[in-house]
Amino acid sequence: MTRPEFDIVVIGGGAGGLVVAAGGAALGAKVALVEKNRLGGDCLWYGCVPSKTLLRSARLAYEMRNADRWSLPPTPVEPDLARVMERVAGVIRSIEPNDSPERFRGLGVDVILGAGRFVAPDTFEVNGRRLTATTFVIATGSRPAVPHLPGIDDVPYLTNETVFDLREPVPSLIVVGAGPIGSELAQAFRRLGSEVSVVDIAPQILPREDPDAAAVVMQQLRSEGVRHHLGATVVGFAGRGNDVRVTVRAADESVSVLAGTHLLLAAGRTANIEGLGLDAAGVRVEGARLVLDGRLRTINRRIYAIGDVAGGYQFTHLAEHHAGIVLRHAIFRMKWTKPSPVVPWCTYTDPELARVGLSETEARGSGVAHRIYRFAFDEIDRARADGATAGFAKLVTDPKGKLLGAAIVGAHAGELIAEYALALSKGMRAGDISGAIHAYPTLAQINRRVADQRLKEGLTPRARTWIQRIFGLRGTRA
Ligand SMILES: Cc1cc2nc3c(=O)[nH]c(=O)nc-3n(C[C@H](O)[C@H](O)[C@H](O)COP(=O)(O)OP(=O)(O)OC[C@H]3O[C@@H](n4cnc5c(N)ncnc54)[C@H](O)[C@@H]3O)c2cc1C
Repeated sequence: MTRPEFDIVVIGGGAGGLVVAAGGAALGAKVALVEKNRLGGDCLWYGCVPSKTLLRSARLAYEMRNADRWSLPPTPVEPDLARVMERVAGVIRSIEPNDSPERFRGLGVDVILGAGRFVAPDTFEVNGRRLTATTFVIATGSRPAVPHLPGIDDVPYLTNETVFDLREPVPSLIVVGAGPIGSELAQAFRRLGSEVSVVDIAPQILPREDPDAAAVVMQQLRSEGVRHHLGATVVGFAGRGNDVRVTVRAADESVSVLAGTHLLLAAGRTANIEGLGLDAAGVRVEGARLVLDGRLRTINRRIYAIGDVAGGYQFTHLAEHHAGIVLRHAIFRMKWTKPSPVVPWCTYTDPELARVGLSETEARGSGVAHRIYRFAFDEIDRARADGATAGFAKLVTDPKGKLLGAAIVGAHAGELIAEYALALSKGMRAGDISGAIHAYPTLAQINRRVADQRLKEGLTPRARTWIQRIFGLRGTRA
């Protein structure tokens, strides 16, 4: 039997694929990276980077208008969307060299630009070249799902793949989808001067989150003038040019028509699995999803799938984590390693909403014995100093204090959740967080203060009386 030409062939040069390629080459593997468009993937071109850059300008516009909250003169701002989007493009350009074909070729990766397909279980063909490999990694990501509803083919719409190309003003935007992408972009456009309406079939925004946490974000969006139509079904689209109409049926069956100049679809994602020759590869697909085992392997054991196309949570950091798992399998033959179940995430609205592990809703639904602890940001000195008192931290523990999950809604929640991600991955207890010194005055104090709630719970009047007796204390008796 002839030896395969490559140790690893990666299909898709986005967040996950690039890490496999760079890591594999650094560890001495012979790697080919096949990309049909341009290296960088969704995160760089149409996802995390542009959306967070846009949100930053939008936040500044909001803070300038509301500067009196910090005792400064409020400044009316009328953002020029074209300039803001040029900044977005500039930030992408500044990061792009890290993901360029030249850089990867310099690392020793054989970068092949083109779309190919499996022609056999161990062969991928691209640009007429047949690549054989010991391990293949499908890292082709996902794309916006477009609902098959009347009028969709005639109406002009934006998705995350086109919205950052906008250079014209957006007087009024209708967003379909109140998940993280829809909510972030709704707030960004509202703060940049657009009228914004959001429609979602779910009864709350950010449906994956606990209602009390999502409500904090919702309240802020509402106070800024974002109009929500929740529990509402889109039944059709109409219009052309800058006159878009979305017909919506509310929960009470009443039908209304929303009018706007622009329409943004942010209602789910579809895995990119078409055209890859999966039949020839012996890879099973069920219901438009790849069938994988718990170790990211398809039923063809030499073919893995990572990142968005793998069908679980869709985050850049998870795609990168998957890449690490595949490298362990492919290079070190550590076939037993599995992806970590501890996946933190954050929605970067203002306030942010971050989570890791079990939510309160999930804990209740699963019937697992649990306790809930909460602490509000308005009791954190730094939050008061910053004028960022909205929100809270919430812990889910087992009855003995072992951490099961954490949610933080408030300023910099995405940064703060990292401590709980580490704590959960190390199987820690609330008491471990309580015992760690947190710098004062930081927002991170909330991580300790919420964990302290568990200690305080143990301090019943009876326990207090015993402490007084044992240590001869003279305070008032409970
Ligand atoms: C608006 C938006 C905001 C987001 N914000 C965040 C965030 O703040 N934080 C976060 O963690 N995640 C965020 N995400 C999600 C994040 O972008 C994705 O989870 C991440 O990019 C997935 O990485 P991936 O490697 O699976 O796919 P991608 O990075 O999308 O890479 C897939 C690559 O495969 C290529 N490809 C596709 N088909 C083929 C083919 N047949 N042959 C060859 N190549 C192919 C594509 O061109 C692409 O380059 C956001 C997503 C969106 C849409």
